[in-house]
Order: sequence, then structure tokens, then C-alpha cells
Amino acid sequence: MPQVLSHQQLIDIAEKFGTPTYVYHAERITEQYSRLTDAFSGIDATFFYACKALTNINVLKHIKSIGCNIDCSSVNEARLALMAGFEPGRVLYTSNNIAFSEIEAAKELGVHINIDSLSNLEKFGKKYGHSYPVGIRLRPNIMAGGNLKISTGHSKSKFGIPLEDVDKIVQLVKDTNLHIRTLHIHTGSEIKDVDVFVKGIEVMFEAAKHFPELEIIDLGGGFKVPYEPGDEGTDIQLLGKKVAEAFSAYAKQYGKTFRVWFEPGKFMVSEAGYFVTKVNVLKQSGDIRFAGVDSGLNHLIRPMFYGSYHHIENISNPKGKMLPYNVVGNICETDTFADNRMIAEVREGDYLVFYNGGAYGFEMASNYNSRFRPAEVLVKNGEAKLIRRRETIDDIISTQVLD
Ligand code: PLP
Repeated sequence: MPQVLSHQQLIDIAEKFGTPTYVYHAERITEQYSRLTDAFSGIDATFFYACKALTNINVLKHIKSIGCNIDCSSVNEARLALMAGFEPGRVLYTSNNIAFSEIEAAKELGVHINIDSLSNLEKFGKKYGHSYPVGIRLRPNIMAGGNLKISTGHSKSKFGIPLEDVDKIVQLVKDTNLHIRTLHIHTGSEIKDVDVFVKGIEVMFEAAKHFPELEIIDLGGGFKVPYEPGDEGTDIQLLGKKVAEAFSAYAKQYGKTFRVWFEPGKFMVSEAGYFVTKVNVLKQSGDIRFAGVDSGLNHLIRPMFYGSYHHIENISNPKGKMLPYNVVGNICETDTFADNRMIAEVREGDYLVFYNGGAYGFEMASNYNSRFRPAEVLVKNGEAKLIRRRETIDDIISTQVLD
């Protein structure tokens, strides 16, 4: 059984640190990482936590302490990773539509780099030639992922260099003497079907033939985690088995063994996170019951952004009668977390907890409506520690230029 925080632990945290607050459970993150290393024990696999999901430096330090590496989507994330103590060799940076100057900055940090456009690849080759091994992000033209907004590998996607351009890449490599060590894909997020990854491997093996110095196949992230009761995540054990089979078949046929890299974000931290809110206001409108909480899409945008489901429980009255609620926020647009959701009877002042709060929760939060972003708390060895204080009006004004 996965480790969970109890209602009482969450209530104690809410009373001590206030709400809204994101709470993360370190041991649950460790457990997810162990699931990965167990499932892939039959193959040379390395995991880079995609920290775009959650970048609090205390979480990054925990990730480092358990032996996991880190994947960054901006040079600032790479800087945070280094601040958290990761050695550059454990940091991967996968760029997307960024200025070449950012790639130069990443190179100066000494981290692994995946490049996703022909123009940046050419600039990299012209400047560094063979001196700095690099990865190429390919667009495999595979449709996958929980919804279109998180599908990144299909034939109309902005991500990566289209597979059709492999000949152009080969020419560039020849012209500029690039050292291509890695081929990368990330086809999307919330991919349940392990065969999507197998399909990705087939595409990569085909492309690999063009790059004699290739050592690593990077399959990105995208493992699905359960959100709704009864929901199932990606079968990681099965995935580990299928990936190992595919790589060993290739080694047998072509006499070449690749290492495999993955970049799991959600898988590592989603279920380790809880978002705790308090009910400000109850309203009845016809047969609709609104439970208005002290939060909004500025704190947890996923439901409004891509219709994500977050399971919600009333931890203050868990044995109350189950009733349907529209759980809404306080932002001045339609701001709905859940429609017609069965929740134990809600009273004003009750704490509602949103599950799967670890990934893309705080990280996508903003100060919209000039509201403070939530606090963050990390529970480790049973101890709850504040890892991001609640903001104040000084934080809101701090970057504005005053006369
Ligand atoms: N790697 C890359 C390049 C990504 O863009 C993302 C997510 O957007 C990830 C990894 C992590 O995806 P997930 O959180 O679904 O595992």
C-alpha cells in the first residue's frame, strides 16, 4: 500500500501553517523512485526527475538524496538544480524554442543538453563542433497523452525536430562535426499505454542508425498516475520488461547496447502532494450547492486549464453525509475545481484536501488578482517543515518600480 498522510496530519498542518497550503510527503516520492528502479533493474536505465512539475529546492534536495537525477526545461531550473547540490553530470536540460544564448548558458554550466531545432543545432555545431556531446529532441509523430494540451509528439506539435528532417540533421552533423550522443523524445503526459513507449523506441532505433556515436536513447517522461478512485496508472513493471526486451533485441541484432534515460515528472511527485484549502463560503442556488474555498485557479490551474480531475475530500467531516457540491474558487472568472462532486457534508470553515497536488500545482500558481501564492510544507520522517513561507504584500510589489 502506498504511504499516505492522514487526515489528522493534514489538519495539524493546516492549523499550524494556515491555508491554502501545498503539502508534500518525502517518503512517497522515495517510494515512487524505488518503483522505477525496481521495474528497470534489468536494463541500464537512468531517471531524471522532470522538475518542471515541482521545483521547491527542498524537494530537489530530497530527490538528489535518493539518487535520482534531474531534468530541466529552462536554464533557471538547471541553476536551481545546481543550487540543490546536483553535480552538472546529473543534470539534463531539454530546451524548446529558446534563444541560442540560453543553450550557451547551459553549456557553461556543464549540464547535458538536448536541442530541439535545426537552427540551434547548427549554431551549436558551428560554435562547439565535436567538443561537447549533445542530444537531439526528435518529434516522433506519435499521438499520445491525456489530452491535446499535453500531447507533444504528434505530427502538428511544436516540439522537437520532425522525423522527416533526419536527413537535414545528418547533413548538419557532417558539416559541423557535431557529437550526437543522445536521441530524445517526449510524446506527452499521462500515457497509460506502454505500447506508446515501445512505438517510440522503434522510431528511435530506426533514427539511431544515422548517428554512429549514439550512446543514449532518452524516452522522456509521461507516465500516467491514478487521479480518480479506480483509475490506473502506467504499468511500470510491464514497461520495464518491454523496454528491456526491446533494447536487448536491438543489441543482439546490431551488436550495440544503448543506455536508456527517462524524465518522469508527474510520476515522481503527483501523488506525494496534497493541496489543503479552507471553505470560506457556502451558497445554495436552486439545487446547486457551491463550496467556495480560499483558493482558485491562480493556485491550482489544472482543472480549468485542461479539465483535470483532482479527488477532493472534506477532512474536517469525513463521516458526514455524502452530498453533491460545486467546489469553486475566489478568482473573478469561472473558477471551478469540481462540478457536482460527491463530498462529505461541507460546513464553512471545513478543510477540503485536493489529492495529486504534487505535480504542476504550486509550479503553475500565479499572483493573479494580486493574491498570495500558497505556502509549501514538506513532511519527512513524520516531521512537517515549512519550505515556502506564505507571501505578503511586499512580495507582490517587490519587482515593481516605484517612483
Ligand atoms: N520531459 C519533457 C521534455 C517534458 O516536456 C515533460 C513535461 O512536459 C516531462 C519530461 C515530464 O512529463 P510528466 O510530468 O508527464 O512525466
